[in-house]
Amino acid sequence: MTTRASSQAAWFDLTADQRAVLGPLRDYLQAEVAPGAIARDESGEFPFDIVKALGAMGIFGLQVPERYGGAGLDTMTSALIIEEIAAVDGSLCLTVASHNSLCTGHVLRAGNEAQKQEWLPKLATAESLGAWALTEPGAGSDAASLQTRAEEVGDGFQITGNKQFITQGTVGGTYVVVARTDNALPGERPAKGISAFVLPGDAPGLQRGKPEKKLGLHSSDTTPLTFEAVQVGREQLLGTRGQAFDDVTAVLAGGRIGIGAMGIGLGRAALEVAARYASEREQFGRPIVRHQAVAFKIAAAAMELEAARLLVRKAATLRDQGRDYTEAAAMAKLKGSVAGVDACDAAIQILGGYGYVRDYEVERMWRDARLTRIGEGTDEIQHLIIARQYLARTVA
Ligand SMILES: Cc1cc2nc3c(=O)[nH]c(=O)nc-3n(C[C@H](O)[C@H](O)[C@H](O)COP(=O)(O)OP(=O)(O)OC[C@H]3O[C@@H](n4cnc5c(N)ncnc54)[C@H](O)[C@@H]3O)c2cc1C
Repeated sequence: MTTRASSQAAWFDLTADQRAVLGPLRDYLQAEVAPGAIARDESGEFPFDIVKALGAMGIFGLQVPERYGGAGLDTMTSALIIEEIAAVDGSLCLTVASHNSLCTGHVLRAGNEAQKQEWLPKLATAESLGAWALTEPGAGSDAASLQTRAEEVGDGFQITGNKQFITQGTVGGTYVVVARTDNALPGERPAKGISAFVLPGDAPGLQRGKPEKKLGLHSSDTTPLTFEAVQVGREQLLGTRGQAFDDVTAVLAGGRIGIGAMGIGLGRAALEVAARYASEREQFGRPIVRHQAVAFKIAAAAMELEAARLLVRKAATLRDQGRDYTEAAAMAKLKGSVAGVDACDAAIQILGGYGYVRDYEVERMWRDARLTRIGEGTDEIQHLIIARQYLARTVA
């Protein structure tokens, strides 16, 4: 008999299918990814071989249906996978998360059948890496103020403008770019008139700038892009002309579940390092974990990460059930990223001087995790979303 309690337990236990996916992935990550994480952080080298291997394992087509060559997984399993990858290499995690949720996610959501057949099989196997170009030098949190234009020319559009901080900007083979096709009329919301297009990386006029030098995530590729009269056909318009902002919002909401999971994975890994270290390191005649101030730091971080994980699972469950997950995703992202950064910070403190140098990797984890509080909507923007949603259902 299924009781209420047992069905709730199933909600946070791994299913047999999830274990079957996560087991081989963990083995691969430990054997092939973990050993080079420090070296890639130092060199900034993009891990093409690892991407190819993970592509063959379905990791670059997590939620792409099998008929387009993807793994056909749900949001919950995807979030678990993202957490596992983050625990080993934050840069690789951002590559996987952004490819899946942003570029591929936008084609999946808004593409017509012909577009899905053309673009998804290459994306799902990582034959072509996906980049998603929304942010501009003057339009970050206020994305609807973007200035990139797509003017109607002949039987298509000509895209002109600048994009900033684009993940896979250099290594991408498929780009989704968000541009204004029509001006919003007086009284219309500013987001009206924004469209999205999918195009290949070798489109004439698409120019990549110099990869950014970042605090962390060194082997994830972040590049500004310039679109100089890039010609696209009408068949490259994703979704309805002038109405792409709803797709953008939905794509970002889905992506936030992954970014929350990424923060948790990095925080979890750092805390595990700290727990082992604190059990071995002795000061004042005993392992430092037996000084209560140290043990309490571990307890607090473990609890925050677990609370964040439950929020990620709630958001993923709502999304998988086709229910509104906007607020849950914002909470999952905010809690996951803050808990992750805080756990990394606690780990550095617990390791003392050894936490501040590179060998134990917790400083790398902190640097990698810090992005999760900025990308795909800052902490402050998540607070705004949560407040708006809470007030709408509570006070309206
Ligand atoms: C490594 C990296 C990878 C990225 N990858 C991509 C990508 O693949 N594609 C893409 O399109 N973008 C990408 N981005 C861009 C990212 O999404 C933006 O940096 C982010 O949305 C914030 O925009 P901004 O940097 O312009 O900051 P701003 O929007 O200028 O914000 C600056 C500060 O002001 C605060 N603020 C702004 N508005 C408000 C408000 N209304 N209320 C309260 N506070 C506010 C912000 O929270 C922040 O603290 C990436 C960024 C980085 C660093």
